[in-house]
Amino acid sequence: MLSRDFADPQRHANWRKLPAFSDQVIAEVFARLSARGVFCQVNTVLMPSNADDLPGFPGLPFWPALDLWHLIPVKGAMAKGWTEESRGRFAATAAELGGAPGPGPTLISPLPSGFAELPLAEIRGSRPTEAAVRGRSCTVELAQLYIDASGHVLPCNSIAWEQRRTIGFGNLHEEPAEAILARRSRALESSHNSARLGCHACDPLNFAANSN
Ligand code: SF4
Repeated sequence: MLSRDFADPQRHANWRKLPAFSDQVIAEVFARLSARGVFCQVNTVLMPSNADDLPGFPGLPFWPALDLWHLIPVKGAMAKGWTEESRGRFAATAAELGGAPGPGPTLISPLPSGFAELPLAEIRGSRPTEAAVRGRSCTVELAQLYIDASGHVLPCNSIAWEQRRTIGFGNLHEEPAEAILARRSRALESSHNSARLGCHACDPLNFAANSN
């Protein structure tokens, strides 16, 4: 799994305060992993500052080897720069990128879940209210499953550490995988996002909350 927030490697390095890595080297590593059947994923933090940069991603040399591209909308102060106009532009870009034919990864993001259609009046502060998320589910959790180093099985890798027990489906050190997967299936069937108050590493509601 690779974090990549800007298509331009130097821009990404500046943003992450890391040295720039060669895209060609990354492409060679991903190609080797993919050839061995390893699932390859890129995560991108979606911000007002990189939303217009997304069309550059499919041109990256490692794109054909990827399976999944997870867009994670920022919350709080970093999300304040959204405007209705930039939201609309992003939505069109995401639809175009999501519908693009392969080779390349499947795009997943919480946004198509309907969160962003919520009336702003329903949103309180920087956290989704229980009423706002009841009955809704994030499309990311339908498409992926994440196991952290402690054995917690989670809907994605953007869950705050202290919430892993409440949002996770179970821990592989404590229960058999079958029991955890059965719990995940039940949770997805019953719109388990009604308990999604702790899903805070990514807060799609802020995408709407900060747009005015
Ligand atoms: S943090 Fe929660 S809302 Fe965000 S992508 Fe992950 S599962 Fe979906």
